[in-house]
Amino acid sequence: MTVVNLSFDEMWDKIMTCDDKYDGLFFTAVKTTKIYCRPSCKSRKPKKINVDFYFDRKEVENAGYRACKRCQPEVEHSPHIALVRDIITFLVNQSKQKLLLKDISDHVGLSPFHLERIFKQETGETPRAYLEKIRVDKAAHLLKTTNQTNLEICYEVGFQSPSNFYKVFRRSKHCSPSEYRTQVSEELMS
Ligand SMILES: [Zn+2]
Repeated sequence: MTVVNLSFDEMWDKIMTCDDKYDGLFFTAVKTTKIYCRPSCKSRKPKKINVDFYFDRKEVENAGYRACKRCQPEVEHSPHIALVRDIITFLVNQSKQKLLLKDISDHVGLSPFHLERIFKQETGETPRAYLEKIRVDKAAHLLKTTNQTNLEICYEVGFQSPSNFYKVFRRSKHCSPSEYRTQVSEELMS
């Protein structure tokens, strides 16, 4: 099993926003309650210091955690879930590279046609649109935590052109990268 390449702080971001794009890729284990959750769980947020992240359900259960009754992280909703998880992990881990549909379909051993159809059926999105959202998340994280310029961030997260970066970022966050950075820093100061 390939583990998704996300930092602790990136995973923390996902659980604070109840982001369901990363469900199944990792689990949030709360040390004080001994319960584990999906990243998208809507339950009250634990303190950061009480959280551990696990990438494998067996591992988190072997460590003594029980599944949350609310988000039911142990329930897999579809027979394609392992495949979709594999594709999303690949998208996150390779998001800095230029990726073609064929690269993804080669990785999972499906035709591009089948890959796109199954992925869309399961997530409601094309792999390309999903990848763009992952890149926007990476960019948002860098805008929040670094002093890198918009242009540096654009290429760092895998966009091929600034115009595409600005367009996709605005579609997802409803503001420009610079506006996003200002908003986040104001939130942090208030
Ligand atoms: Zn939960």
